[in-house]
Amino acid sequence: MTKKSKIILFVIGLLTAPWGIGIILIIISLATKTDKKYKEQTEIIHKAINCPYCFHVFDKPPKRSAVCEKCSKKFFVRNFKPVTLKEKYYIDFLLEFPDISKKYLRNLLEDNRSENDYRWSLLQKSIFDKKSVGYDYDGLKLLYVKCARIVKSENKDPEPYLKLADEQVRLFFKNSSLHGKEKQQFIDQEIGFYRNFFKQT
Ligand SMILES: [Zn+2]
Repeated sequence: MTKKSKIILFVIGLLTAPWGIGIILIIISLATKTDKKYKEQTEIIHKAINCPYCFHVFDKPPKRSAVCEKCSKKFFVRNFKPVTLKEKYYIDFLLEFPDISKKYLRNLLEDNRSENDYRWSLLQKSIFDKKSVGYDYDGLKLLYVKCARIVKSENKDPEPYLKLADEQVRLFFKNSSLHGKEKQQFIDQEIGFYRNFFKQT
């Protein structure tokens, strides 16, 4: 039910309130959900055929990233919708860093940086947040490996970050019930596993 029809129903209900039917109309107008979804959906479809920069109307909704024929800017497609580069970052980073607040991410994206620089800031913030909570050694390990990956992509030495990741594995096993040789085996296996993966990718 649309908002307008809900209001009309409510007013008619009020006018006829002393009788049973008036009360029923009021209840219906209050209890039914406003049909917002329909409105949102039509809005998305409407937006879906516009360039996110110049609002040029496309003949059909683009399926993948492309360059707008009118403004020549590159747009991307997320959730079946053409989006700007910043919007793409916003959607992708929220998925990659689910613990980061939307406000922090929005503020970060206000600066113009490279994708790697954004990711680096998000990693540092995530590491800081995780450290202040503590005990998520596995989560920290993954974040350090991601740092190592960025450093590697910039042709710098990733080893310091891999070492920090190794340390998280040792901390994880430190409090386990394992001892001596067996414990060391588990640690070596775990470290070997992601270091091998890192080398290959
Ligand atoms: Zn355009």
